[in-house]
Amino acid sequence: MKLADYFTPDDYFPSVLRIKPEFFAENNIKCLICDIDNTLATYDEEVPIKEVKDWLDTVEASGVRIALISNNREKRVYMFNSVLGYLYVSNAGKPFTHRLKKLIKQTKAEPSETALLGDQIFTDVLCAKKAGVRAVMVRSIDTTKRPFLRLKKYFERYFMDRYEKKKNIY
Ligand SMILES: [Mg+2]
Repeated sequence: MKLADYFTPDDYFPSVLRIKPEFFAENNIKCLICDIDNTLATYDEEVPIKEVKDWLDTVEASGVRIALISNNREKRVYMFNSVLGYLYVSNAGKPFTHRLKKLIKQTKAEPSETALLGDQIFTDVLCAKKAGVRAVMVRSIDTTKRPFLRLKKYFERYFMDRYEKKKNIY
């Protein structure tokens, strides 16, 4: 794998709600590990909004195991998961893979049939690629309140161009 491959998502969607549940079966994804902040919810949403909860329920009902992985603190993740009841890891330390690998073992899924869903290249995509799992990326829900995140998005552009070329989007 080339160095740039570690920073290039395998898939990109404008929102989780645009990922059809069939996408997972079509790509042999049996386990989906989701980032929370700016992927499933804004920082202000303590629990998932109805649309996201419904989407998660539909994906789960299609036979995909779901777990949560967040670099945010225990209190945030515990609260968010209170209406979901998934396996989860808080303070995950992404892009380091130690906690992700442990979580995948707990789900009893193989890394080859697992995907990490997240919104950031330098944490989520890199973490996924290092652990040998598929990197599914979505556009960050809201970057306006975090100037540093906007800066990171600027540096992500090079890899998003690479993704688009690879997928022949343009
Ligand atoms: Mg995030």
